Order: sequence, then structure tokens, then C-alpha cells
Amino acid sequence: MHKRSLHWWSGLVILLLQVFAGVFLIQRAAKEPIQAAEVVAVFLGLITFTAAIIFVATQMHWKLMRVLTDTARQFGRGDLRGRIRPPGFVDHNNLAEALNRMANLLDDRMHQLRTDQLEQQALMESIASGIIAVNHEQRILNSNEATSSILGLLPEDRGRKLGEVLREPELLGFVTDGLACDDDLNRDIRIYRRGGREINAVGHPIIDSKSGDRVGLVILLDDVTRIRKLESMRTDFASNVSHELKTPITSVRGYAETLLEEGLDEETKRHCAQVIFRNTEIVSNIINDLLELSRLEHAAEVDPDRLDPLETKAIFTRLVELHKDLASARDIKTEINVDRDLMIRADSRFIEQALGNLYQNALRYATEGTTVTLEARQLPHRQIELRVKDEGPGISLEHQKRLFERFYRVDRARSREMGGTGLGLAIVKHIALHHAGEASVSSELGKGSVFRILLPER
Ligand code: ADP
Repeated sequence: MHKRSLHWWSGLVILLLQVFAGVFLIQRAAKEPIQAAEVVAVFLGLITFTAAIIFVATQMHWKLMRVLTDTARQFGRGDLRGRIRPPGFVDHNNLAEALNRMANLLDDRMHQLRTDQLEQQALMESIASGIIAVNHEQRILNSNEATSSILGLLPEDRGRKLGEVLREPELLGFVTDGLACDDDLNRDIRIYRRGGREINAVGHPIIDSKSGDRVGLVILLDDVTRIRKLESMRTDFASNVSHELKTPITSVRGYAETLLEEGLDEETKRHCAQVIFRNTEIVSNIINDLLELSRLEHAAEVDPDRLDPLETKAIFTRLVELHKDLASARDIKTEINVDRDLMIRADSRFIEQALGNLYQNALRYATEGTTVTLEARQLPHRQIELRVKDEGPGISLEHQKRLFERFYRVDRARSREMGGTGLGLAIVKHIALHHAGEASVSSELGKGSVFRILLPER
């Protein structure tokens, strides 16, 4: 049965019927002469049976074809779950097997495709850069998680035009240029999101595998705000250092040249030597402060287990003793105000240096005859505050914001005259950070300033 087609079986049945009819007529004729009506009846019966067999076979054939067609349609729609049971006739079996083989193959391909897709998506998600793929109409084909943090794109934005979702003219201009360009495009652009960010965008064309036409663009986005800021800080820093060193060195050179002249009187020689000495001291202070800053920047945060327990009152008393000449030269009194016997755990050298810088600033910049207060108190949330308060001229808000930057000075001339390097507060900030703390200032013009170091209680 499995080896034969439906046509073969129906043909065979018809043939057998014809043979039976023939045999019947021969046997009937051997007994007595056959009536014409009998022959006609046998032929009519034969024709009727043949027609019935052909009808049944055709019905079966179409029914099987309908089943095969419906299943083929189901496969075509992508529903590859079912398979066709072979109907038992060779032609239909062959067709069913071919369709089942095709479904198996499609199922394997689809599975592979889904696996590839998941792999690609996982790859895209694991990349820290934002990735967007757009078609030639700038409709979003795909984007990764990083893009939502850089641009705020959401998965449901897929299929929408980039211009409908984003109001970022530089990015949209980049995409337009990228789609028109044969090669990769690389450009730094600015976006307005998150207070304005600097983004490095790279566009790579998507090429149609058949026609070779450019059909879209993959855009890689990297937030380079911090890197660019660091780069510009590094450039600014280099030019600041050169500028700061240039002034005292020019002065040393000038006075050294004068010293080389013949016939100078003793007093001029002495004056020249003093200026040279003072300026080399400035250079040496700048270099020492720069070295200290670089050490602090490269040092890891202090290990809490290796910190010294320090009495704040003792630190303040030592500072007052160390700077008593400067204080008396400017007629400034110092008050120490400490919460009981408050102790801190800190690196003693660093913390004395930070407080020393703040105390020296207060002595230098405060108005003569006023009082500087050194305070230490415990704050809620396990924090300790060390404060240096003066009754000086105060600092305006615009300067306060930048005061802890390197080489930032409110009054450059006054700072120089006082032997300042412009690095003292930058060092204070780094020492505070080094102790997992922070440094800050609050000030009112005409009233004075309060510099604070906040340390975690350990
Ligand atoms: P400098 O070596 O110039 O003192 P700092 O980094 O210590 O450098 O201070 C930066 C600037 O901050 C100073 O030049 C000064 O203009 C201002 N400043 C610092 N402390 C005070 C203060 N107590 N009162 C007023 N201005 C201050």
C-alpha cells in the first residue's frame, strides 16, 4: 500500500472489475446464450462502478491535497510546530515528506537566526558605547541599553524616525551626513541632554548584501565629556604651571644679569640677591606643592586601619605655635573651640598640612587685628567637622565655586605678595578626598569666611 499511488490502486480496482465482468460474461455464455439486455446491464454496472471508483479516488486525492496545501500555508506563515502524517500513497507521501523536510530545515534556520539575534543583542548590550542602527529614512532599526542613558532612547522608539524622538540638531546632522557619506564618519558632537554632553560619534554605513547599495547607518556614541574636560584641564594646567614659573624665573634672570654688571655698590648687590632668593623660594614652593598634589592624586584612599588617633585640640595648638610670628605680625588673635576632647582618626602629616594651609590663609587674608577661630565638632551621621573661621574680607560666590581649583586666586597680586602658590586649597581638597571626606567654603563679603574639612568618623 505504501509503495503505490492512489491512481495505481484505483486503476487496479477498475481493471479487476473489468476482468470479473469479462469472466462473468464468458461463464454465462457457456451455459446458455446471453441476452443483449444482460450484456448492457453488465456494462452499465461496470461503468457505474468505474465512475464511483474514479469519484472516490478523486475525492480522496483532493482531500489529501487540501491537507497538504493547508499545512504548507501554515509553514509559510512561520508556524512550524506541526508536521504532516504521510497519507499512505506514494505521491502524497513524497510531497508530505518534502514539506516536512522543508519545515524541519526552516525550523533549524529560524532557531539559528534567533540564537544569532540573541547573541548580537547580548553583544550590543555588553558594549558601553551607545549603538543605534537606522535605515535610509532615519528610522530606528535597533539600539542598545547604553543609548537610553546617553540619549534617552527607549526600546519602543524602534521603527520611529530619529528626528521625531530626539531634538538634537548636531546628532541629526551627523546622521544625515553619515547616510550621504561612502566611508565611516567620525565627529565630536554636543547634545543638550543631562546638562550638555560632549559625544564622539562614529557612523558606519549598512550595505545591502544583494545590490551593494547603502541602506542605513550604524552609529556608535561615546560620552567623552569627562575625557575632553580632563584633556582641557591638562592643557590648562601645563600652561598655568609655565605661567606661574615664568614670572619668578624672569625676575631671577633679570636680577642675576644686574648682579653680573660691574661696579655695583653693596646695597644694590644685596637687594638683587634678596630678590633672587625670594623668587627661588617661590619656585621651590610651587614645585613642592605640585609634587605634593601629584603624590596625593596618585595615592590610594587612606587605609582606615592605619590611621593615627589624633586629638584635635593638640593639632590646633601646634598650628598656633607654628604660625605665631605671622599671627603677631598681622595682629591676629586665634581662638580654639573644640567639642570636649574630640579625637579624629587621620593621617597626621596630611591633616596638619591641610589645616595649616587653611590657618595660614586665614592669617594672610584676614583683616589685621581680627580673630581667627579654629573649631572641631562632631556632627550627626558620624561626621567630624574641622573649621577655620576668619573675619576677613570674605569671598564672593562666583570665586567660591572655583577656589579649590589649582592656581585659582581671587587676588593674584596679594597672593604673590603673601608668598602664595595658588595651590594651597587644591591640596586641602585632595587631602580631604584622600580621607573619604570633603572640603568646602562659605563666605559673606565684608564679614569673613569659613573653610571646612568634613571627615567621616572612624
Ligand atoms: P594661595 O597660595 O594663593 O593662598 P590658595 O589655594 O591657598 O592659594 O588660595 C586660593 C585663593 O583663595 C587665594 O589666592 C585667595 O585669593 C583666596 N583665599 C583663600 N583663603 C582665603 C581667606 N581666608 N579669605 C579670603 N580669601 C581667601
